[in-house]
Amino acid sequence: MAGGWETVIGLETHVQLRTASKMFCGCSAAFGDPPNTNVCPVCLGLPGALPTPNEQALKLAVRAALALGCTVHPRSIFARKNYFYPDLPKGYQISQFEQPLATEGSLSYLSPERGLATATIQRLHVEEDAGKSLHDRFPKQTAIDLNRCGVPLIEIVTGPDFRSPQEARAYLLTLKQVLEYAGISDCDMEKGSLRVDANVSVRRAGDTALGTKTEVKNINSFAYVEKALTVERDRQIALLEGGGAVQQQTLLYDSKTNGVRPQRSKEESHDYRYFPDPDLPPLVLTEEFVAEQQTLLPELPAKKRERFAAQYALGVTDAAVLTADRAVAEYYEAVVHAGADAKAAANWVMTEVLADAKDHGDGLRVPPGALANLIGLVRGGTVSHQAAKRVFAEVAEHGGEPRNVAEALGVIQVADAGVLAAWVGEVLGAHPAEVARYKNGEKKLMQFFLGQVMKTSRGKADPKLAQRVLEEKLPS
Ligand SMILES: [Zn+2]
Repeated sequence: MAGGWETVIGLETHVQLRTASKMFCGCSAAFGDPPNTNVCPVCLGLPGALPTPNEQALKLAVRAALALGCTVHPRSIFARKNYFYPDLPKGYQISQFEQPLATEGSLSYLSPERGLATATIQRLHVEEDAGKSLHDRFPKQTAIDLNRCGVPLIEIVTGPDFRSPQEARAYLLTLKQVLEYAGISDCDMEKGSLRVDANVSVRRAGDTALGTKTEVKNINSFAYVEKALTVERDRQIALLEGGGAVQQQTLLYDSKTNGVRPQRSKEESHDYRYFPDPDLPPLVLTEEFVAEQQTLLPELPAKKRERFAAQYALGVTDAAVLTADRAVAEYYEAVVHAGADAKAAANWVMTEVLADAKDHGDGLRVPPGALANLIGLVRGGTVSHQAAKRVFAEVAEHGGEPRNVAEALGVIQVADAGVLAAWVGEVLGAHPAEVARYKNGEKKLMQFFLGQVMKTSRGKADPKLAQRVLEEKLPS
């Protein structure tokens, strides 16, 4: 709440489905190909070309709906959304309007202000993307790339459920996590595979009626979500406090100026003249088809987090870190299944493993079995924790079995009683004064002797055994 005002935000998220081909034709849906190379009569809307729905896209859309707890309708309708724009050669976009694929879902997320909160998913529908207008290729001209025309999308619409820009961002990150887990999309905002439009309004705290809303578009990175929504909220509050009124309109966010500017006066939905696409029959999904998609969903992040906390006796924060990414969660479990102590494995994954992945960007480089063996070496006193970090870095870089690597690095701890006794004898012989003080009751000198033994052994002495030998040899 900002100065007696309450913010109300709803989000419409467009997500590109992870398919090889487009929604209604066989063209490649790949990102970054040369402009206008992935096109055909269907996605260009040439006369006589007929669309055919992409089955893989429908599977992914249904999985997304199920992952968000939606009701998937056995019958939905493809509709034409008519508008004129240079990057839309057909003059309409195939979408769903009156009878969408799915409705009435929800997604719980962690609100920075309210704790666990739930966003309602009002609808989830399937549609195709339009092309792309590029304004920065040629001076004073607009270039058109039609490769994106017909790329499969789902649109996920929430209720006006968010009370701050921070909540909107937290929801989006949670949504991204779920969609990535389920393999529905790569959710890469930089590539445009996740795009967000936001409806923003403000009202006096305590009011129940919604204020006049604006729609903010062109928010193209997670970092900008909070910024764009904050700018628009503050603009509306300033307007109202100055005695003005908010005008219903569509605004574009400009990240360079961190401001918003009007796009066009809000088009009411009837302006799109939606009507059922005569080229596409109603989309009918059998119970078996929907049930099969349910079985293909993996364990989702919230559930995995709860299970990790319970099964591995981890704190909620640790469980959240370990389950934030599906590959990391699966890696962690593989390390535990390979025999590592669950708590030690959690610490290793959250520190060395994630740091290494971040630094090198080529995945989780130490095989789970190798990490489990390394953790075992530390637990058994074969290598110290410090030395184990060196072994880890070496295995990450060049591979190898941790024990062999530890031997090659010369960091195996010596637990041989004869060798330890020789080092202890050397240390005691070199420090007669300290030995005498120890005898007179200065027992805290034990740490000094232990330090000397470690030094003499160049770090190779097993500290626990060395202390035991010291206790035996020192006069009491
Ligand atoms: Zn095509």
